[in-house]
Amino acid sequence: MKIRDIGGEFALIGRLAQHSPITHPDLVAGIGDDAAVIGGSFPGGDYLLATTDMLVETSHFRRDWATPAQIGIKSVACNVSDIAAMGGTPTFMFVSLALAPDTEVTWVETLYKGMADACRRYGVVLAGGDTTHGEAVTISITLLGRVSPDNLRLRSHARPGELLCITGPLGGSAAGLAMLSAGLDPPQYLREKHLVPGCRLDVSPLIAPVARAMIDISDGLAAEVNHICDQSGTGAEIVVADVLIHTSVRDAARLTGNDPLDFALAGGEDFELLFSISSENKQLLEEKGIQVAVVGRVTEAVSGRILVYPDGKRTPLSGGYNHFS
Ligand code: ADP
Ligand code: MG
Repeated sequence: MKIRDIGGEFALIGRLAQHSPITHPDLVAGIGDDAAVIGGSFPGGDYLLATTDMLVETSHFRRDWATPAQIGIKSVACNVSDIAAMGGTPTFMFVSLALAPDTEVTWVETLYKGMADACRRYGVVLAGGDTTHGEAVTISITLLGRVSPDNLRLRSHARPGELLCITGPLGGSAAGLAMLSAGLDPPQYLREKHLVPGCRLDVSPLIAPVARAMIDISDGLAAEVNHICDQSGTGAEIVVADVLIHTSVRDAARLTGNDPLDFALAGGEDFELLFSISSENKQLLEEKGIQVAVVGRVTEAVSGRILVYPDGKRTPLSGGYNHFS
């Protein structure tokens, strides 16, 4: 069987994980969340967080679309987003590079300038890495962080009855990519959403203490809701009319012959947060002036994962970006 026929990256990861079934008392959460959670690491009882993400030229970035500084910023932001999704604070970063021998030295230096800018913004310190040669430029970042046990938010923490909320509009990155791929010039909003996404470390420390399950939206809302349901053993209902979609995303969908809802549900790399929360605690967030949008609710597993359209039509919530599928 070829990797493309296995049923997506998560089927592959599940199969590979079976080869290392060893557990450890200090591993609070391993494969299956946005970052690994490791206990016994800090005297005060805080957990160590560790996440890693790899960007490969052509598959994840194009040197003719993005400047090296933009690629550097994005490569850091997507890792910080995973730490934010755990309710944690990012700390130390390791950067592994595979570089084609004909890569300009100034290109790599500018990549690092972009990374340094992002590190300053998120309070991250570069602590090491590895450099080797390879055909496609590949940037693999490992980021550490820490979180107090009280603020730790796992994908498995959702319970029926809770609200599902997002921290901002979705589909911008996918819409920007669709325009670039069609040879169109995206408006600045979409260009930035795709090429230099931020992440929501600005609000995650305020949301984490009052939320339940949390995940970052890197593969589209549908995929992330399904991850929460898988790990929490719940169902979910998402209300189409409540999914925030920017007008530029709707324009881009019209121009490229796409459905804007697909950009939000199945596009990638928005790096907003999706979390479940009780209605009382949602009220607390509102009182603190933290803007989030309710997009649905957590239900019992037997109710399934459902998308509710304005006319009342209900369809299964499937899709989401999946490498290899
Ligand atoms: P995210 O989108 O949050 O970065 P991924 O979808 O990349 O997360 O990965 C999902 C989970 O699978 C994570 O817990 C990650 O650590 C784990 N994982 C991904 N690839 C591998 C691999 N090759 N070997 C072991 N674990 C993996
Ligand atoms: Mg993630």
